[in-house]
Amino acid sequence: MYGYAGSVLRVNLSTGEIRREPLSEEMAEKYLGGRGFVAKMLYDELPPDIEPLGEKNMVLVAAGPLTGLFLPGSGKTHFGTKSPATGGYSDSNMGGHFGPTLKYAGYDVLVVTGKAPAPCYLFVEDEKVEIRAADAYWGKGAITTEERLKNDLGKDFQVITIGPAGEKGVRYACISHDFGRQAGRTGVGAVFGSKNLKAVAVKGTGGIPVFDAEGAYRKGKEAYRALFAKPGFEGWTPEGTAGITNWVNEVGVFPTRNFQTSFAEHYKQINGKAIIEKLKITDKGCFCCPIPCGKYGHTTTKLGSAYVEGPEYETIALFGGCCLLQSIEEVAYANHLCDEWGIDTISAGGVIGWAVECFEKGLISREQMGRDVRFADLETVAYLLEKIANREGIGDLLAEGVKVAAQRVGKGSDTFAIHVKGLEWSGYECRNAPGMMLAYMTADVGAHHNRAWVLGHDVAGSGASVHDLITAGGTGERLPKSPVPGKSAKVIEMQHVRPLFDALGICRLQYMELGFEVTHYEEIFHLVTGKKMSWEDMLQVSERIWHLTRAISVREIEGFGRSFDYPPPRFYTEPIPTGPNRGHCLSEEELQALLDEYYQARGWDKNGVPTRETLEHIGLGEVAADMEEKRRKPKS
Ligand code: SF4
Repeated sequence: MYGYAGSVLRVNLSTGEIRREPLSEEMAEKYLGGRGFVAKMLYDELPPDIEPLGEKNMVLVAAGPLTGLFLPGSGKTHFGTKSPATGGYSDSNMGGHFGPTLKYAGYDVLVVTGKAPAPCYLFVEDEKVEIRAADAYWGKGAITTEERLKNDLGKDFQVITIGPAGEKGVRYACISHDFGRQAGRTGVGAVFGSKNLKAVAVKGTGGIPVFDAEGAYRKGKEAYRALFAKPGFEGWTPEGTAGITNWVNEVGVFPTRNFQTSFAEHYKQINGKAIIEKLKITDKGCFCCPIPCGKYGHTTTKLGSAYVEGPEYETIALFGGCCLLQSIEEVAYANHLCDEWGIDTISAGGVIGWAVECFEKGLISREQMGRDVRFADLETVAYLLEKIANREGIGDLLAEGVKVAAQRVGKGSDTFAIHVKGLEWSGYECRNAPGMMLAYMTADVGAHHNRAWVLGHDVAGSGASVHDLITAGGTGERLPKSPVPGKSAKVIEMQHVRPLFDALGICRLQYMELGFEVTHYEEIFHLVTGKKMSWEDMLQVSERIWHLTRAISVREIEGFGRSFDYPPPRFYTEPIPTGPNRGHCLSEEELQALLDEYYQARGWDKNGVPTRETLEHIGLGEVAADMEEKRRKPKS
């Protein structure tokens, strides 16, 4: 099968069974790879009514048909599981070099089930696959573990690993790789930990069968040249994603002080320029990437110093905005702590922001907290990260995530627990950005920006790329209210475009930020796989995956539907107090209207459940019966 390694590697940690099976051609045809494989296999194989951190959950690691090939940004790897953060469908992707190496070892997908009796790691060297003891690594930080495993096994092993937070079942623990790349979201690291799985180390020496190798190589070279010639190519790399920090403040969508407001006065202390001036040693990129967005640097703070990759924009938004850390050095240090503990920086920043607001309002006492905590304080952040990672004291509550923590604290603290479906909100405040609000509300994994990013439409009323927006800048003037109707079409379009890259196993930034033409992907896909698919054909696959991931959450979460798509009350009861969007707020009626329009455009019922007609139309007839059974059941 061209473009694919051709095998699925299955490891049952309870029994020790290791099995290889051929990759299904039908699955490749219908779901492409990466996120598509994750969704299909979770739908087919997840046992009913299981606990995400129980032995019966499964975790998948999948590459795509373009992963590991000579093509800009072909280094992506996809993870999937039943999420310990949301209880529903989850996936998380990561750059670096792991996916390509997994394919060179002969595998498109790794499926891990069961639970090892003692800490272990998985050793994969082409056909040689072993479950090995991990006593020497258990308890160690994620970055430390990667370094040690590479020292012990050899530099040409690619390693994914968890930190102590994953071992302790922190529900937003991440999987780490390449000394600073993470599959950060939805708690995939906690599922590794629940299986006593510390790491996977892979070395691959094989190749990937390609339909027209010479043509693909020629086209790959052409693609690089085309990308080098793109306007903005030179300008994008120096600051990476942090380059957007100025714009999001100048247009008032920067999450500040636990999303109380959307503008941070100190934003120029924590922007991309500050990274260059205060931290950066070098650019750092993924496999085959000519526009490396990673910034590798060194930070020094009153609490210590560290080498760190980042911070990228989301980490700046959550630690510099939500927690209000005042300098880029402090944000980078918090980033370093999260990387070593193995915690998602987005969720951690959101949880800490909520905890500090609870403390300020007297909803969590000093005794419960263990000390005074406050915004704009690195010691607070470092203290709470350590407590969370070790599930000590208040950290045991905060490790559950902001949704559950707010349910337990009560006293109205859910009003400002900023999440959707149990996943903490990433880096954009949306009370005057209804399209982006809808994107967060309907993202299949919870409040995550990477499914659809439509802020350009909300703010500028255009489809401007991030590069265009950064270049144009914001004025800082007060903005008019952004219209609510008509947002669903763009959100849906983006929910198919962006996740398509996760199915192909490549980075989307070349397309999204630099306008790399889709014809490159169509032509390379044909030369690699031998199959002709237009961009529209591929988008239809992505749409199929979207309905399937919704169906998984409907099946897995009792009562799942419209109420799970709601943002926190802060976003429809409290007008933004400061900044360019001061005075703006969405009403509850406007949120309902957003959902009504979206569900109708999607072909879902009023509760947000895909209808039989929609599922059959998109080639998911087998899923329709499950959905109808769910619809018949009374909602709890
Ligand atoms: S743009 Fe960034 S995330 Fe994408 S492949 Fe390049 S380095 Fe990796």
